[in-house]
Amino acid sequence: MKTLDSDERRGFGRPTWLEVDLARIRGNYRVIRGMVPSKARILCVVKDDAYGHGAKRVATVLQEEGADWFALSTLDEALELRSAGIVGHMLVFGSVPAEGVRAAIEQDIALSVPGDGAASEFASVVPAGKRLKVHLKVDTGMGRNGVLSDEAPIVLRALNDMRRLRIEGIYSHFSCADSDESYSSMQLRRFEKVLHQATVEGIRPPIAHLSNSAGILMIKSAMFDGVRPGLLLYGCSPIEGVPIEGLRPAMSLKTRLVGFKTVPPGYGISYGRTYLTYRPTVVGVLPVGYADGYSRMLSNKSSVLVRGKRVPVIGRVTMDQTMIDLTEVPGVACGEEVVLMGESGDQRITAGDLGSLAQTISYEILCIVGKLVPRTYRDRVGTEVA
Ligand SMILES: *Cc1c(COP(=O)(O)O)cnc(C)c1O
Repeated sequence: MKTLDSDERRGFGRPTWLEVDLARIRGNYRVIRGMVPSKARILCVVKDDAYGHGAKRVATVLQEEGADWFALSTLDEALELRSAGIVGHMLVFGSVPAEGVRAAIEQDIALSVPGDGAASEFASVVPAGKRLKVHLKVDTGMGRNGVLSDEAPIVLRALNDMRRLRIEGIYSHFSCADSDESYSSMQLRRFEKVLHQATVEGIRPPIAHLSNSAGILMIKSAMFDGVRPGLLLYGCSPIEGVPIEGLRPAMSLKTRLVGFKTVPPGYGISYGRTYLTYRPTVVGVLPVGYADGYSRMLSNKSSVLVRGKRVPVIGRVTMDQTMIDLTEVPGVACGEEVVLMGESGDQRITAGDLGSLAQTISYEILCIVGKLVPRTYRDRVGTEVA
C-alpha cells in the first residue's frame, strides 16, 4: 500500500463546520466602544480560544479595529497571541506557575495575583533589574479567586513594597450582574471602598476594572478605568432572553444532509426509541452529534433550519449523527445545507436558544464545539454595519 501524502488525506471528514463572521466581531467591538466612556479601556476577553471562535483570528481583527488590551485564562494563550503578532497589553486571569514569570516579563504580559503569597512567590523569581506587571484580584463577593476585599488594602500595601513587581491594575468580578442588581451594587461598593483606601494611601493602581459583559450593560457606574467584555464581543446577550441592540452573533454551526428516507408510523428513531413516528415520516440524517458539541441534552428538543424553515430534531442526538423530521420540507436532497446554530431566511437559532434547551448557557454552547469541527472565517472589512 502506498503512503498517503497529507493532501490526499484531507477532505473526507464530516460535512459539519463552524463559521465565524469576523466582520460581526468588528461590528460588536464598535458597539461596545460606543457603550463605554472613551477613556475606559476595553480589555477584550479572548480566553479559551475566544470562546471557541479562534483567539488568533479574533484578536487580529480586534487589533485592526484599534483594540489594545486582551485578557486570557492562561499564560500559554497569551504567549500564543504574542507570536501571532498581537502587540497590545495582555492580562492573564488564571493562575500561572512561578516558572512562567520569566516568559511573562520577556513578552510584556501582566499576571493576576490573588494574594500576597502568590505575589511574593512571583517576585522571588523576577530576574534582577526586571519587573513583573501584576493586577491584584479582589474578591468582592464572587467567591472564586482573589483576596477578600477587607484584606485587600493590607495586601496592596505589601505588594507595593515588592520592588520586583509593578502593580499595573486592580480588579474584581461580578457574580450576578445579569440577575441581581442589589448584590452587584454591594460588590461595587466594596470595590470602591478598596480603591478609596488605596487612593488615600497613595497606592491606587493605575487601572481599576470590574465589569464583565453583564456589568457593562447593567451597572453603568462600574466602568472605572476599563471593562472586560467577553460574550458581547461574540454577539451574544449575557442576559437570558434579552437581545442587545446592534450586536450580531459571530458563530454559526452548519452541516449538510447526508441521508433521508421515509419510515412508517410507529417507527422508533435513534437510541432508546425515545421518538416514535406518528405518521409516515421523512427522516433526515445529519452528520453531527455530541462529539461535535451538539449536546445530547438537545435530543427531541431542538430544531434546525433547512431552507429558512424550522425542522425538529427527533430522537436522541448520538455521538456523531442526529435525525430530523423533514416531512414538511419537500424536495430536499442530500447535500442540502442545514443550520444548527445561526440564520437561514428570517429564522435564527442563537447560542442562548440552544443553551436554554440544553439547560446551560450560551457561553458553554460556544465553547463546546468539538475539535474535529473545521473552522471557517468570513470577513468583509468595513461592511456589515450593525
Ligand atoms: C470570563 C471573564 C470575563 C468576561 O465575561 P463575559 O461575561 O463573557 O463578559 C471578565 N472577567 C473575568 C475575570 C472573566 O473570567
